Amino acid sequence: MARDYLKKAHLTSRSDASDVHDTVRKILADIEAGGDQAALDYAAKFDKYDGNVMLTAEEIDAACALVPEKLKADIRFAHDNVKRFAEQQKSTVANVEYEIVPGVIAGQKAIPVDAAGCYAPGGRYSHVASAIMTVTTAKVAGCKHITACSPPRPGVGVNPAIVYAAHICGADKIMAMGGVQAIAAMTFGLFGLPKANILVGPGNQFVAEAKRILFGRVGIDMIAGPTDSLILADKTADPHIVATDLVSQAEHGYNSPVWLVTDDRALAEDVMARVPALIDDLPEVNRDNAAAAWRDYAEVILCADREEMAATSDDYAPEHLTVQAEDLDWWLDRLTCYGSLFLGEETTVSYGDKATGTNHVLPTSGAASYTGGLSVHKYMKIVTWQRATRTGSKPIAEATARISRLEGMEGHARAADVRLAKYFPDETFD
Ligand code: NAD
Repeated sequence: MARDYLKKAHLTSRSDASDVHDTVRKILADIEAGGDQAALDYAAKFDKYDGNVMLTAEEIDAACALVPEKLKADIRFAHDNVKRFAEQQKSTVANVEYEIVPGVIAGQKAIPVDAAGCYAPGGRYSHVASAIMTVTTAKVAGCKHITACSPPRPGVGVNPAIVYAAHICGADKIMAMGGVQAIAAMTFGLFGLPKANILVGPGNQFVAEAKRILFGRVGIDMIAGPTDSLILADKTADPHIVATDLVSQAEHGYNSPVWLVTDDRALAEDVMARVPALIDDLPEVNRDNAAAAWRDYAEVILCADREEMAATSDDYAPEHLTVQAEDLDWWLDRLTCYGSLFLGEETTVSYGDKATGTNHVLPTSGAASYTGGLSVHKYMKIVTWQRATRTGSKPIAEATARISRLEGMEGHARAADVRLAKYFPDETFD
């Protein structure tokens, strides 16, 4: 479909050239060979940190004591919402026991993985909410060992609010380590940790690449790129709110795309006119991120009608999708590709990012076309089992033997033959 761009990105996050892969591969190899000391050396190199890595109970208590009471209450509020939503999700995972043919029972069980490694980013911003999102869902899923980690600041350590969040949400261990070295430590079982079965949580390109390389050896929630957000707005939308919401997501990083898709040219022009002043009004780091993201990655697309808007949005498959338009039920019914959907002006991506209860670890870079975000389900293995009576197994055995022989798998066929011969000695089978 030919798109009418009022503003077009001249970069895409997928086109970022980099030697990240080689860098990360070398760090992982060094740490696998060199163990704890190699991880500590990289922590010193990248984060200028030489303090304690595995926080003690006293260090956790001391960090928690630094967190203001009001912020603690906010973190507990967010944790409670994330926990209750995760519990609802878990209740949808059913164990199954079904008699598939008479005498043959097939079943399904959901078993949580043992050890989860939860990454809360801490380079650019202190992602307290990521600790809440990842640790809480692992706990509700039933993981036995939960490690939370976040990059320490030189001479300071992990942000105390992240420590508090990880602690109250249920982390068994809290590790002052970030980047590839943290991912490696959890995967290889350094510093006395159990080897993680799954690594979850957002992170920068180094963290994401480390997870991608290690995937298979360890489970991961998803391969995440820079945060992206799309707003669908019609003539009923408030241009100041739309512009504020776009800027709020552009501050994530210099390469975080934000997209506005609308069927109203006047609204689009009004929003575009407001954005620069809203960016200028941000604190310095946030301003630099948002300005670069708006300049290089943002797009404003004019569509003929709402059906074209929805098709455009599904094509982009955004991580965060906001609808500020009439007839929210139509949009909920029509849209199919997004990580998390925010319907109406009364909610916003920031709410979901911090406190509503839906998870903020979400698919980026179009991955919402094939997956949703982090949930209790990501920590759970859906496994199957079966058992049969001798009589019930007879038609299964006969079919198995014939299919196996057709496939040339004589050994498989004989596993059926031997049972038929034992259970039904007076019968012949072909
Ligand atoms: P981060 O914690 O991911 O990365 C910091 C670490 O990067 C440091 O500990 C350091 O070890 C490592 N590092 C820095 N420079 C390096 C280099 N040159 N070589 C090797 N390692 C290096 O924090 P961040 O950088 O702020 O990134 C956080 C990311 O998470 C952002 O991209 C943000 O958009 C994303 N995020 C995504 C979601 C989501 O749900 N998709 C939510 C929150 C944050």
